[in-house]
Amino acid sequence: MKFYIKTFGCQMNENDSELMAGLLAKEGFELAASEEEADVVIINTCAVRKKAEEKFYGKLGQVLKLKKRKRVIVGVAGCVAEKEREKLFEKGVDFLVGTRAITQVVELVKQAIAGEKVACFEDHLDEYTHELPKMRTSRHHAWVTVIHGCDRFCSYCIVPYVRGREKSRRMEDVLEEVRELARGGYREVTFLGQNVDAYGKDLRDGTSLARLLEEASKVEGIERLWFLTSYPTDFSDELIEVVARNPKVAKTVHLPVQSGSNRILKMMNRKYTKEYYLELLEKIRKAVPEVSITSDVIVGFPGETEEDFMETVDLVERARFERLNLAIYSPREGTLAWKLYKDDVPYEEKVRRFQFLMNLQKRINRTLNESYRGKVVRVIVEAQADNGLFYGRDMRNKIVAFDGEEWMIGRFADVVVERITAGPLYGKVIWVENDVSTFASTG
Ligand code: SF4
Repeated sequence: MKFYIKTFGCQMNENDSELMAGLLAKEGFELAASEEEADVVIINTCAVRKKAEEKFYGKLGQVLKLKKRKRVIVGVAGCVAEKEREKLFEKGVDFLVGTRAITQVVELVKQAIAGEKVACFEDHLDEYTHELPKMRTSRHHAWVTVIHGCDRFCSYCIVPYVRGREKSRRMEDVLEEVRELARGGYREVTFLGQNVDAYGKDLRDGTSLARLLEEASKVEGIERLWFLTSYPTDFSDELIEVVARNPKVAKTVHLPVQSGSNRILKMMNRKYTKEYYLELLEKIRKAVPEVSITSDVIVGFPGETEEDFMETVDLVERARFERLNLAIYSPREGTLAWKLYKDDVPYEEKVRRFQFLMNLQKRINRTLNESYRGKVVRVIVEAQADNGLFYGRDMRNKIVAFDGEEWMIGRFADVVVERITAGPLYGKVIWVENDVSTFASTG
């Protein structure tokens, strides 16, 4: 039988899909090229924003239409499965996989094939170890989830309700996965967590993200280590020190700020102030001068006045992020903000604030990117984009596109930057690690 997985949302979902695919493949299921060819379709969902949930329902509608034409078993995994649970059976879904029950996917598929409507929302995270097979989407870069769940309870966020409380994997288990990846030719690893800086705290044995990065950097063959996503008050001095000192740890930090207004930050239940955040940026930049800092901002949070918004504008101007992910606030049922506050900023005003910040950030990006003109950056060649160009990232997570060839993928390359945009940079390759011409002459 063939399966197909459609993934929405964050990298942790991508990693969960890689695990589901690996488990199903080990059991003899084959990966289908499209949902039309599949006997089992799994939609791995995101509920963090209303838009993401709507996308899922659009996809589900298509798959259920397909179900009218041929026999296909439909499963839903991820945050919407947790949020809506058995209600999804009424829509025609056959099985549900909870966010902490990904390891149960084979059993659930088998039961669904036998005609049962089945769901598993229990916590099976203890079974989540390096030994589980994964069908990874890249041959040189791997996602490695190190902590599940989140204890932060930001008032707008549904994650703690659908992904549960923080639970870290044992460091030795994570390191074993990194060693296996290195043996398999992987060169880059990104450690993932909703709040990755909290990694190890629940283990109470001294484990921390800083220590994990330090140990993982000793694994031969692994060249670059990344981590996502950080939380300002959990970003420790120890972590800053490792980013600054360890040459294998990427010089980039994704540090969502969400708002520049202390009043709104408090309503968001974010446990810091604008001043604290800006001081933290200064501290990181002082220790790691080449660091690139990216962030997330939500506009139109309940009660956000023009004054609050201008505080955010001021923060964005002062912080000079290398990238800013902007989101328009949408209430998520079950969260504190949904219970306590009225969604009272008019939609047109939310859009105006969104566009204002987007334009501001574009100008900042262009100016920052100018410093790259004529520079030589070292990337690992990642893939070929739809426009035919190849691309890779430098240690600051800056994307550079260039003319390349398939054999370059996964290798280091030096690219001289020739053209600047507010987004990617464009350049010419001047050196590639172990160039094939070298291979040819040495046999
Ligand atoms: S830190 Fe806040 S925004 Fe991030 S996942 Fe946890 S509750 Fe959600």
